Amino acid sequence: MNLEIMRRIKFCAGHRLYQHGGKCEFFHGHNYVAEFYVTNHHVDTVGRLIDFADLKSLFKGWLDQHWDHGFILNQADENGLNALRLVEPCKYYELPYNPTAENMARYLLEVVCPELLRDTDVRATRVVIWETEEAFAEARMSDGDSPAPDSNAVAVAR
Ligand SMILES: [Zn+2]
Repeated sequence: MNLEIMRRIKFCAGHRLYQHGGKCEFFHGHNYVAEFYVTNHHVDTVGRLIDFADLKSLFKGWLDQHWDHGFILNQADENGLNALRLVEPCKYYELPYNPTAENMARYLLEVVCPELLRDTDVRATRVVIWETEEAFAEARMSDGDSPAPDSNAVAVAR
C-alpha cells in the first residue's frame, strides 16, 4: 500500500517560451499553482507521512527564493537573459529547457524535490503545475525512475 499526500503552493512568475514563434515568446507572467505529491508506505507514531507544515516550509521556501516574483527563462535564451540583466534589481532563474508548465513540473520533480526531501521519509511522486485555472501539466515518476538531483540547471537570483 502507498499513502500519498499533496501540498499546494501558489506563486507568481514571469517567463517566455524561447523560439515559440507566437505570443508566448513575449515576456508575460502567470499566477501559478504548484501541487507536490509525496508518498511513503507507513505513517509515523502520530499517524502522518510528514507534517504538512514541513512540506509547506520546504516547497514554499524554495519557490519563494527561486521563482516567486522572478522570471524563469531557458538558459539558451541569451537575448531574454541579457534584457533581464539590465534591470536592477532583477530576479531570474535559468532552466535547461523552455519554461513551459510541463518542464517546470518536471524540473521540480526531478531536480528540486529529491534535494528538498533528502532528509525526510517521503519521496515525491508527482508535481502538477497549473498555469491558468483551465490548464495544468503533470510530471509523474514512472516505475523504476530514480530521483536525479544532478542537472545542468543554474540558479541565478539577485
Ligand atoms: Zn506563459
